[in-house]
Amino acid sequence: MTAMKIGVLAMQGAFAEHIQILRDIGVEGVPIRLPEDLDGISGLILPGGESTTMRKLVDRWGLREPIERLIESGAPVLGTCAGMILLSRRIVDGDESVFPVLDVEIKRNAFGRQLDSFETDLVVPLLGNRPMHAVFIRAPIVERAGPDVDVLARLDDGRIVAVRQRNVLATAFHPELAGETRFHSLLATMAADHDEPGEGSAPRRRGSAARDMASGSPGRNRQAASS
Ligand code: GLN
Repeated sequence: MTAMKIGVLAMQGAFAEHIQILRDIGVEGVPIRLPEDLDGISGLILPGGESTTMRKLVDRWGLREPIERLIESGAPVLGTCAGMILLSRRIVDGDESVFPVLDVEIKRNAFGRQLDSFETDLVVPLLGNRPMHAVFIRAPIVERAGPDVDVLARLDDGRIVAVRQRNVLATAFHPELAGETRFHSLLATMAADHDEPGEGSAPRRRGSAARDMASGSPGRNRQAASS
């Protein structure tokens, strides 16, 4: 993963922590503020923060269309907390969707005032048996998930807090604030596979596909984590 770069939307919120986690796993995190910052990145992180502010800045900085194109190309994306809201197709009580790529209905600030923020341990079976420390800060909840959405984690009461739909990963909590690297490692694995699909990978629509095919398979073991 030497040359891999993952973009981190850097308008506001917890982007520096994501860049640090990427550094911890040997991936360069590139702050994204301008459309041209997206050049050469293999995946993208939409961090936590305030989704209403972020949606305004996405448009003001001309990032909506280029990010849409990137996601449509199959590049992997991880949205955490407000980032999850930005990726959701339906937002309860109001706001328009920003990148309507996750077939979920999401409720913002779902834990109310008494429980503004809390921490808990969750098992995310896709990422192993070791529980994950999850920090929730004015977090959203997935109220409904469509048939193409894989539920990756739930709270004890059954509410959905992490999902995946093809190249899109999203968590209602903040793995980056707990020093948790497994979602970022999964993203990097998916990004490597997108850059150079191995045998059996789904075909993708990118100009470099022929070159990648010619350069051979990057290894099957990646597929276990990314499929
Ligand atoms: N409550 C915020 C929102 O609705 C999200 C909070 C967070 O990202 N930690 O956008």
